[in-house]
Amino acid sequence: MGGRNILKLLTFLPFFVYAYFSFTGQLLLQVNPLYLIALPVAAALVLLLSRNLWLFIASLVATNAAVQLTGGSGSQLFFFYFLLLFVEGLRTSSWRYFFAVGAIVTLEAGSALFHLKDTPFPFGPLAAFVGFAALAYLFLRREERHRQALEQSLDRERAKYHWLDPLVSPRSQRLAALKEETYSVDADVLYKGFVNLGFETLNVHTAALFLISGNRLHLVAARSHSDRIKDDVSFELGEGLISYLAREQKPSLLNDLGADMDRLGYYTGKVEVNSILTVPIKSGETNYGILVADARRMFTEYDQTFLVRLGSLLARDIQIARAYEERHREALRFSGLYELAGNLLTGLSEEGLIDRSFELVRDLFAPDAIGFARLREKEGAKVLRYEGTNGFDKGFRFDPERSLVAMTAKHKGFLKQRDMTKPGLYRLGPGEKPAVNKTFLGIGFEEDEETHGVLWLEKQEADAYSGREGKILGFTAALLSAAFLRVRYHEELARLARLDGLTGLLNHRAFQEELIECLKKSGTVAVFIIDIDHFKRINDTYGHPVGDMVLAKIAEVIKDKGIAARYGGEEFALIIPNIPSRQMIGRGQEILAAIRRAMVRIPEGTIQVTASVGGAIYSKDARTREDLVRAADSALYAAKTGGRNRLVLAGK
Ligand code: GH3
Ligand code: MG
Ligand code: MG
Repeated sequence: MGGRNILKLLTFLPFFVYAYFSFTGQLLLQVNPLYLIALPVAAALVLLLSRNLWLFIASLVATNAAVQLTGGSGSQLFFFYFLLLFVEGLRTSSWRYFFAVGAIVTLEAGSALFHLKDTPFPFGPLAAFVGFAALAYLFLRREERHRQALEQSLDRERAKYHWLDPLVSPRSQRLAALKEETYSVDADVLYKGFVNLGFETLNVHTAALFLISGNRLHLVAARSHSDRIKDDVSFELGEGLISYLAREQKPSLLNDLGADMDRLGYYTGKVEVNSILTVPIKSGETNYGILVADARRMFTEYDQTFLVRLGSLLARDIQIARAYEERHREALRFSGLYELAGNLLTGLSEEGLIDRSFELVRDLFAPDAIGFARLREKEGAKVLRYEGTNGFDKGFRFDPERSLVAMTAKHKGFLKQRDMTKPGLYRLGPGEKPAVNKTFLGIGFEEDEETHGVLWLEKQEADAYSGREGKILGFTAALLSAAFLRVRYHEELARLARLDGLTGLLNHRAFQEELIECLKKSGTVAVFIIDIDHFKRINDTYGHPVGDMVLAKIAEVIKDKGIAARYGGEEFALIIPNIPSRQMIGRGQEILAAIRRAMVRIPEGTIQVTASVGGAIYSKDARTREDLVRAADSALYAAKTGGRNRLVLAGK
């Protein structure tokens, strides 16, 4: 029994003072009743307007004073007692009401006893006082126990999540919890835990938790004695009783619901509840939702206090859980980006890059559609890939003025559109299938000076992505941009590695690779090896640079005669797949003739050369690649020894 309760008891002292004077008849004065009416009326008004227990007691005392002063139970003001009780009963029907009834009845009974028996002071009032004090003490003690029980269950709940709370748990414990693999916050368990706690501790009919998402209020957890509770409840914010109370963000206690019960909106039919208690789930400025309890009995003030504290505890846990979730998501994003960075460093094809970036973006942003387009200043937009409904055909042309993708390409950083289904907005341009998704979040990046890539996400709901997500997408795009550049350089390098620097024909290694491929694919493959006759003389007469010019010229005239390669110094090779062996002579002569016709102009005049050509055909002349080349080489040797400027075929 705390000091506060002693104080409460003391408040009732004035009752007894008045009672005493009333009993002794000292206060049977003739006071203007009209003047005295103002007293209880004012008290009742105050009572109506406030929720304050002390004001209620004050109004009770004032009424009693007025009644005693004007003749006790015979007073015209006696009915004000009933007015007060009626008002309080209507408003809360809580223990206060019964307490007040008890107090009045005790006082009046004591007073009547005194008058009846004409007992000398102080036995009558003293007996009344003792009786009343005992009653009050018992009542307050019960309330105190109830309160303590509630506090304990709150503490237990707090202890359950203590490791989440940096103010409560020691650092080492928190670190240990963080290291545990099972470290996670299951929101569902959290919600259900609190609803159960409210349900069991307050012994209610139904306890339900509604949380705000967007501008709707959704039922996320409920426990009820009734099976009439709906599974899926969702209100527009501000619509309906619960939703209205959620927007009010104040605790509320509604007793004698009666017909109002239908307005609760979470039962499928009539359920007998009389009283409803709601508290906001609010932390700082953030309103998460509302905790609702209803019961057949009337809720008390302590019930309300308990639920308010349960609500604030839950709000704090939700705040922590959401912050954790956000961090967790962020960590996932960063590990995703890290992975992407790694993948982008190893991936070597453009297709692969797009694959990986789509995969990553799918994980990070859970979009309903993803698009990737490439924009070149003159060619317009080309959609390289689109995943989602109402997409694009490849090569879709865009409107640079109104297209979101084109605007994204121009834009530095990300471009966000809350609702792209609005008229006049296009992803790529008029004529496209209308967008089914509302949110557009795009990021442009430079692939090279005139090429821009645009990666964009679509989400069904409007305004689904925040600026933070835009920034993460920006980071993704920066990685992509570097990766595309690297892939392009890689492809260029790979291409160059196969070419001969002087003639632009395939080099020796690429020749072998091509030959392997052709032998795999084609039934017959001809190889011609071409060696320029007396080439040394050209070098000796005109110098090496002129020799180079001749080599380049020869390369030019043979390059369209088959798959042409520079086989060695002044030797060339041609691969001709799928050629019938009867055409070998014709093709060989064609090569010889083309070389003879070729002219290199130099200041000193015109240079013309001849060549010797050896040819062999797979699989007639050889069964392996090595043999095929060897056969052609032997034929070439035969052509040289046979007098040069001629064609020799293997086996001839
Ligand atoms: P033949 O084949 O008719 O027997 O006589 P040849 O003079 O062509 O003889 P050989 O094949 O032995 O000589 C090849 C010469 O080609 C030797 C080398 O100086 C020259 N040569 C090789 N590669 C290059 C090159 O890249 N540029 C120039 N200018 N000359 C080269
Ligand atoms: Mg040679
Ligand atoms: Mg030669």
